[in-house]
Amino acid sequence: MKEFDLIGNYFAKGGYVRKDVLLGIGDDAAVTKVPTGQCVVTTTDTLVEGVHFLADTAPEAIAHKAIAVNLSDLAAMGAEPAWISLSLSLPSIDESWVKAFSEKIHSLSHYFSFQLIGGDTVQGPLSITITAQGFIPDDNQITRSGAEPSDWLLVTGCLGDAGVGLDILTDKVIVSNAEHASYLKNRHWFPTPRVLAGTTLRRVATSCIDVSDGLIQDLHQVISRSEVGAIVHLDKLPISEALGKNIENLTDALTYAATAGDDYELLFTVPEEQRVYIETALASYNIPVTCIGQITGAAGKIDLRLDEQPFEFESKKIGFEHFS
Ligand code: ADP
Ligand code: MG
Repeated sequence: MKEFDLIGNYFAKGGYVRKDVLLGIGDDAAVTKVPTGQCVVTTTDTLVEGVHFLADTAPEAIAHKAIAVNLSDLAAMGAEPAWISLSLSLPSIDESWVKAFSEKIHSLSHYFSFQLIGGDTVQGPLSITITAQGFIPDDNQITRSGAEPSDWLLVTGCLGDAGVGLDILTDKVIVSNAEHASYLKNRHWFPTPRVLAGTTLRRVATSCIDVSDGLIQDLHQVISRSEVGAIVHLDKLPISEALGKNIENLTDALTYAATAGDDYELLFTVPEEQRVYIETALASYNIPVTCIGQITGAAGKIDLRLDEQPFEFESKKIGFEHFS
């Protein structure tokens, strides 16, 4: 099978179709139309085998993660997804792999109403680059730089699950409860991009970031860009039943929740007068949200507390950084 047939058979059909795509897959480039009053938000993320996912990860999980990390970046800006382009580097053409991979992308496109509008297919080590574009009403983007002292610090969902899931897969942790182990591994393979939470936060949150590198490291991005500090109550971190029941040592559980990456929850700040509104709005969509601390004026400083007492992690465990 040639590249051309591969695109025609698997990528050009089966996905969600949008009216604002004037020309999708098949020409030299795609043509799309931006609605009046909307801005386009663009993000790109690359997943490389062995770096971002383990060798032999199922194609469905790779496709899901490649899409989810990009939609998560859009969500953190408050944008709703519209268009995706996909650059795929494959070691060889394995049709069953491509079928499963493309079907997952198509099913997500229907769920999140985006259209796959183009891409590129080359031979090389397994790697997936996705560019996602979404819309935001004029000037309604939520940035990392707007947090103000006394704003509350909130996070969606639970933290640390994906980190435990990865450690189960790499035999660093044993979780004997099969249901919990499967939940944790699925949180690593199939993270939920918080798209609806992101659009709900428009005009309400003063700052937002998605938790991809670990809570503390991502919070550092917010406080440094906002020139503020933060106090974080570690005893308030949202921990799932599966994590809490299987990682019995409290420091280990908190280390996962505060420093492990790949959860793709939204970490955001809201002023006091918006806190009840946002908690109610997210609850009405069944999106769990937890207040974990507050912004302070102590620029650059994250004050970690456990039961009101100062707390420190071993520094080597703080977040994930490439090239370190
Ligand atoms: P060109 O050589 O002009 O770049 P290609 O043969 O690479 O054309 O691509 C043909 C069409 O298929 C283009 O519309 C391109 O966007 C699309 N395409 C190529 N690879 C993919 C892919 N992996 N997923 C979606 N669309 C793709
Ligand atoms: Mg090309």
